[in-house]
Formats: sequence, C-alpha cells, structure tokens
Amino acid sequence: MSRQVLAVVALLAAGAASAQTIVVRADRLVDVRDGDYVSPAIVVIDGERITGVNPPTVPPGARVIELPGKTLLPGFIDLHTHLTLTLDGDWKHQAATETAADWALLGARNARVTLLAGFTTVRDIANNGGFPDVALARAVDKGLVDGPRIVPAGNSLSITGGHCDTTGYAPGVLETTPEDGAVDGVDAALKGARYQIKHGAQVIKICATAGVLSAEGPAGAQQLTDEEMRTIVEEAARHGVRVAAHAHGTAGIDAAVRAGVTTIEHGTTLDEATAKLMKQKGTFWVATSYVWDVLDFPGMTPTMQRKRDELRQRIGASLRLGLKHGVKIGLGSDELWVHGRNAREFTTLVRHGLTPAQALRAGTLTGAEALGVTDRGELAPGLLADIVAVGGDPLGDIKAVEDVKFVMKGGKVYKQP
Ligand SMILES: [Zn+2]
Repeated sequence: MSRQVLAVVALLAAGAASAQTIVVRADRLVDVRDGDYVSPAIVVIDGERITGVNPPTVPPGARVIELPGKTLLPGFIDLHTHLTLTLDGDWKHQAATETAADWALLGARNARVTLLAGFTTVRDIANNGGFPDVALARAVDKGLVDGPRIVPAGNSLSITGGHCDTTGYAPGVLETTPEDGAVDGVDAALKGARYQIKHGAQVIKICATAGVLSAEGPAGAQQLTDEEMRTIVEEAARHGVRVAAHAHGTAGIDAAVRAGVTTIEHGTTLDEATAKLMKQKGTFWVATSYVWDVLDFPGMTPTMQRKRDELRQRIGASLRLGLKHGVKIGLGSDELWVHGRNAREFTTLVRHGLTPAQALRAGTLTGAEALGVTDRGELAPGLLADIVAVGGDPLGDIKAVEDVKFVMKGGKVYKQP
C-alpha cells in the first residue's frame, strides 16, 4: 500500500456517519506490504469493512475508539491450527472415548482464545474426525461462537497406517475408510477428496510423509504416492479447493510440490533443490517453527521423542535456505496444547532469521495469498475490518505481538483495553 493510497478516503465522504460507523484511532499502524510504520492511524469502519485509512476528515457522529500508545495491525492469519484438538491427558485414546460433539465444544473454547490472541482467520487442518471443524466454522459464521474465520479441512487424507490415519488399536477397532481419510490408490484418493469437499472441507490436508506424533519409524518417509497426491490436487482444483501437504522428509516435500500442492506444512528438511523448486512453482511454506520448542509432553513414546530430536535440529537451517531462495513463507503455529499462544510463531520465525517485517507479512498478507483471498491481510479501504492493536514496537521487537490489546473482526470489537 502506498502512502498516497493511505491518504485517500476511499468510500466515505465527510458526510454524517451511519449508525454503524466506527473510527479507530491509534498512534500508528504497520503497513505490512512495505514493512513501515504510518502515523497517525485513523481507520474508518462501516459495517464489516474498512472504508477509510487516514482520511482528511472523519465522519461526524461516528463511534470513536481511542487506542493511545498502540500500534494497529491487520488481524493475524494462522494457516495451521487444530482448534478441535487438545493433546492432554489420555490424548492417544481420544478417538475411542470421545465424539465429534466433544471436539466441536472443545473447539468453541479454543476458537475464542485464538481470536482474543489476535488471529481473525485460521486454516484448521486435521482433527479427530466427524467434521467438528466444519461445524465450528459454521457456528462462528452464524455468530453462535466467538472465533476467527475458519477454513476447515475435514478429515486429512493419509495412507492406511500413515501419519494422519488412526493407529495403535487392535485389528477391527477404529478401522478407517476413504471417507475417514484413509486412502490407498487413485480411486480411494478421489473418493476421499470428494467426500471431504461434499461435507464442507474448504481445503484438503494430505499427509505426504510420516510424522512425529504417530507410530512409524522414519519421520520423513514419503507415504502417499506421487500419483495419489496428483490425483487429490487435480480433483480439489476442480472444486476450487487448495491442498495443504504435511511433509517432513526431502523426497516427500519434493513429491508434494511437484504434485501441485499450495502449501507445504513443516517442510522440516528442505534442501537447496526443494527450496528452488518451491520458489519456481510458487509453493507456500508453513514452517511451524515454534512447535519444536514445545513438543515435549506426557504420552510421547521413545520413537516419537527420537523423531522429534532428529527433526528439530533441521528447522533452523531449512528456514535459512528458504529465505535465501525467496520461498513464500506463511505463518502457521501447529498449536495443539495451550491454544492462544499462536503469536509465538512470529517470534520464532524472527529467531530463525526473518526480520520482524517479514514475519508480520507471513502472518497477514502472505497468509491471505495462500488462502487465495484478497479481502484481508492489510489495513486498506474495501477490506474486511479485521484489526488488532499491540503496545511496544513490533517492527523493532516482534514479541510485542504476543500481547494483543485490541481485537476487531468484521467491524465487531472482541477485546479492548
Ligand atoms: Zn499440525
């Protein structure tokens, strides 16, 4: 956004304010496109949209929200949440002892704390099954539950026995089908993708490789075949749906990128060749770097601990490679335990070499781009009024974003100092 655009009142003339007009006034705002501060910060909101940024005059009679000492930012976007999961207590048996209704209600609680942490949009990828994420997204849209705008994935598609399948039970107990996400072969992959979309998935999550919190030995081994992944990506595209691929190992990352997925989740062992390929294909990378700091909790088996210890050594070097080659980095927290800590991912990305401005762009504009939406991600006339405010100096010390003081989503205030 240029300064000239900022200075223009887009839609509202200086006439009387409508009943819904709100003016938010703070010390400054972050222009996430340029990575600069703009002062002062006067944002005019009519209904659910921003109608002016720093206009020459503000509409008389508007409701004014004063935020002295604060910096405005666009609402944050987390591309990798699990709102309907909390891994605590007997987490390995949740699939056998709880229902989708339990997970939807848990999700309502997690959605609220995530919104209050400044995240006004999330892409929720993977849950325990039964479409609690789709139900939660609908409940938020209806105003029944306070939460971010949710892009739900339904059931993740995985090979039988793979990272995103339900494992650890005796034969005949909790067996899974393509509808549940267990897909073997092209026909099952088609059925699995179509079934998720039929029941409300707005993104398809696939498990391209093994992972940490599952029973397999090698954490990075490719699981879905190249052909299965291509089939899913092509089918999803026919519905206008994008694909997010969980991938740790280099070969699996490479296969998923070649299959045409929109985002690589984790991407823990990127190398020069895969980084260059992602840059060339425009694949987004959701590095989930913060999760490695907190991946230590009751119930992890020795195999899981070994895989975690192997992979977390790699994320720093991989991020440096991704930056070097200009891979588009979007922010994703992978928060599975204490929901609402999502903003720590900004801080961890900076620790691994992003500038605060680059990290802020990852969690706003690039997130919107990865979702394929142009109605959010920055503070500009015509966009959704998803606005947060923080104290401190976020472009100097990124930790300021971990303490959000004000949250507005779609013109409605959810948190105020
Ligand atoms: Zn995850």
